[in-house]
Amino acid sequence: MSASEKDGGRWKARSLELARELEEQEKRQAHNEKLLARAMIRLTLAYEGCRPAADPQLLELREILRRGLLNAARLSQVDALSEAILRDSDPETTSPDWHEPLLDLLLECAPDDQERTRIEQIRRQAITDPEALKAALAEVFDEGEDRSRWNWLRSWFGRRHSGDGGSRILHRHLGRILAEIDIPVELAEEKERLTSLLDRSGSIEAALEGTAKLLAAINERLRHEQTEIERFLEQLSGRLQTLESQTHDMGRLFLGGDRRWEDKLSAQVDHLRLQTIEETDLETLKQVVAERLNAIGAQLQTLREAEERRNLEAERKIVEMGRRLRELEQESEDLRQRLRLAHQQALRDPLTSLPNRQAVDERIAQEFARWRRFGEPFTMLLWDIDHFKQINDRFGHRAGDKALRIVARILREGIREVDFVGRYGGEEFLMLLPETDGDGALKLAEKLRRAVENCGFNSRGKPVPITISCGLSCVREGDTPKSLFERVDQALYRAKAQGRNRCVQV
Ligand code: GH3
Ligand code: MG
Ligand code: MG
Repeated sequence: MSASEKDGGRWKARSLELARELEEQEKRQAHNEKLLARAMIRLTLAYEGCRPAADPQLLELREILRRGLLNAARLSQVDALSEAILRDSDPETTSPDWHEPLLDLLLECAPDDQERTRIEQIRRQAITDPEALKAALAEVFDEGEDRSRWNWLRSWFGRRHSGDGGSRILHRHLGRILAEIDIPVELAEEKERLTSLLDRSGSIEAALEGTAKLLAAINERLRHEQTEIERFLEQLSGRLQTLESQTHDMGRLFLGGDRRWEDKLSAQVDHLRLQTIEETDLETLKQVVAERLNAIGAQLQTLREAEERRNLEAERKIVEMGRRLRELEQESEDLRQRLRLAHQQALRDPLTSLPNRQAVDERIAQEFARWRRFGEPFTMLLWDIDHFKQINDRFGHRAGDKALRIVARILREGIREVDFVGRYGGEEFLMLLPETDGDGALKLAEKLRRAVENCGFNSRGKPVPITISCGLSCVREGDTPKSLFERVDQALYRAKAQGRNRCVQV
């Protein structure tokens, strides 16, 4: 064999080997493409319904993938479609709420308990892993998987494209769901619209989407209502607590020891609290609360009225007591006044208006007390009108009284404010001169004696001479009122004995 023949043989073997490799590669690629296409079909199915706007692109993409191997033109078409899907299915705006309504719908349509259990499993899985739901739903529609598992459901959707039998079933089911949904007033219009759409056998996609949105809105509203009820209950509980403590205080304040009202109110509030805990329907709850609050309000009203009556009665009593108090004050003031007057009168001689014998004795005691406490000396003087009996006898008793008043005035006006003079008896006067010794007292006594002598007393125009004698003595160590008086009386006796109209100091 020549060298060129050898080379030719090698090249041939090599090219055969390459051809085999290429064939293998093409097989693998075709297989991979098939796997890829299948995965993409699953994805488009899983994604369908998430964004209605992207659904036509998803359908188109699925059709391309189903038609077979990808060539350059198809690949660019796939690229453009996926771009469009991405644009139309911004995850930010994709509602997460479609799962629940869709699962509810599947549950509603499930033919038996086994299917319902399976759907519930998917729902539980979806709570922790939303992607699992998509995968599960993709399985429902995937032709390559266990067909028998979701046949009942697939049959509807399969027939959707071939005829309108499945669509009719869906219309009927949706209609039933809508009829049974307890709809809030503000969503009634939307329900009406969907019902008429179903009645007209309109687009099943639009009906499904509308039903899903409606269910989501009801969900939202229920959540909102739940929050409202919770907040309401919280507020109510707080108000009840306040109300209870207020009624407690009121009952205690208004009714003193009577606990029956307090117990009644407490029972009402407890009853109300129990019912608000048990009741879950907002309207019934409001009605219950309104009734109970009315009952409590009525009891409080009764309390208030009782309190007003008590207040009015108390006010009346206060006014009456005030009036009585003023009367008593006036009475006691009158009494005090009379007592003062009576006391003054009791201590005063009515003829001369000088302090009487009792007052004289009291003053002597006071002067002694002061002298003992402060050691300041004082002098006692005892005056006696000379031959007064004769005046009475010669000029009459009235003239005698007049003479007594004149002498009394001369003695009173001739001494200081701090000095004292009183009528001791008949025509005798007793004088006390604080902080005055015997000599000082004697000088004053002489002045007074002369004043009486020269007073110019007359009776019926006739001059009546009056003279007066005085015995006086300053207080001495060891003196008592009695011993001092006796000494002074002794001095007066001497003055009389020495011829009268004179003052004698001892
Ligand atoms: P002597 O100088 O010794 O004191 O003589 P006297 O007359 O003053 O003494 P006596 O005690 O004998 O008389 C006192 C008289 O004073 C007797 C009484 O009638 C009279 N007399 C006493 N109180 C009153 C009175 O209130 N009014 C009148 N008019 N006379 C009275
Ligand atoms: Mg006398
Ligand atoms: Mg006399």
